[in-house]
Amino acid sequence: MSIENKVVLITGASSGLGEATARHLAERGAKLALAARRQDKLETIAEDLRAKGTEVEVIQTDVTDRAQVQTMVDRTVERFGRMDVIVNNAGLMAIAPMDEAKVDEWDKMIDINIKGVLYGIASALPVFRKQQSGHFINLSSVAGIKVFAPGGTVYSGTKYAVRAITDGLRAEVGGNIRTTSIEPGAVDSELKYGSSHEESSEAVQQFYQQAIPSDSVARAIAYAIEQPDEVDINEIVLRPTSQEF
Ligand code: NDP
Repeated sequence: MSIENKVVLITGASSGLGEATARHLAERGAKLALAARRQDKLETIAEDLRAKGTEVEVIQTDVTDRAQVQTMVDRTVERFGRMDVIVNNAGLMAIAPMDEAKVDEWDKMIDINIKGVLYGIASALPVFRKQQSGHFINLSSVAGIKVFAPGGTVYSGTKYAVRAITDGLRAEVGGNIRTTSIEPGAVDSELKYGSSHEESSEAVQQFYQQAIPSDSVARAIAYAIEQPDEVDINEIVLRPTSQEF
C-alpha cells in the first residue's frame, strides 16, 4: 500500500492539477516523468523536485501527436525500467455557445482531451501488459457526468468520452491492470482561461470563484494509487462543497 518508488508519468504536468499531482506524489516518494508542451515550466518544477531528492524525467510532449506520445512512454520506461501509472491529464476547456461554431476549438478539445488520452492508452497498454501490472488514471470531469450547457457542450462531450473510454478499458483489461476516472468540479488552475468567447470566459471566471485548490485532486489521485494491487478505485467525483453543478 504505497506510492514510494512507483514510476508515474503525468501529462499536462506544467500547471494546475498535473503540477499539483507531481508535487504531491514526489512528497510521497514516487519517481516522475513529467510531460507537456512548455518545457521551461516542466524544467522549473523538475529542478525544484530534484532538489528535494525526487528522480524526475522531463519529456516535452504534444499529446495530439501520436509519435510524441509513444516517445514519451518509451523514454519513461528507458529511464526508470518500468512504468506503474500513467495520468492522462492534459486538457483544454474552451467554452462558447454552439451558435458561435468555434470549430477550431472543437477540434483542439477533441484532439487533446480525447485523442491525447487514447494515444496515452495505446502507448502504455503494451507496457502494462508486459509487466502484468499498471494503472491508467484519466481526467474526466463533473462535466463528464452532466452536460455543462449552454457553452460547455463540446467540452462535456470530450469528458463523457474520457469516462466511457476509461470504463470500457476497465472491462477489457481488468485482471491486473487498474483504471481510474477522476471527475472534478471547479478546481483552481489555468483551465479557466481556455475560452476565447468573451462572454463565456467571464461566466467561467465567475463560476470559478468557488474553485478549490488543485492539490485536492492530487490527493484523490494519490488515494487511487496507494490502494493494494487488488483494489481498483474506478471513479472519484469531487467538487467544491458549495458547487451545485
Ligand atoms: P491547466 O490548463 O492548468 O493544465 C492543462 C495542462 O495540459 C497544462 O499542463 C498544459 O501544458 C497541458 N496541455 C494542454 N494541451 C496540451 C497538449 N496538446 N499536449 C500536452 N500537454 C497539453 O488545467 P487543469 O490542470 O485544470 O487541467 C488538467 C485536466 O483536468 C484537464 O484534462 C481538465 O479538463 C481536467 N479538469 C479540470 C478541472 C478544473 O476545474 N480545473 C475540472 C475537471 C476536470 P502545456 O500548455 O505546457 O502543454
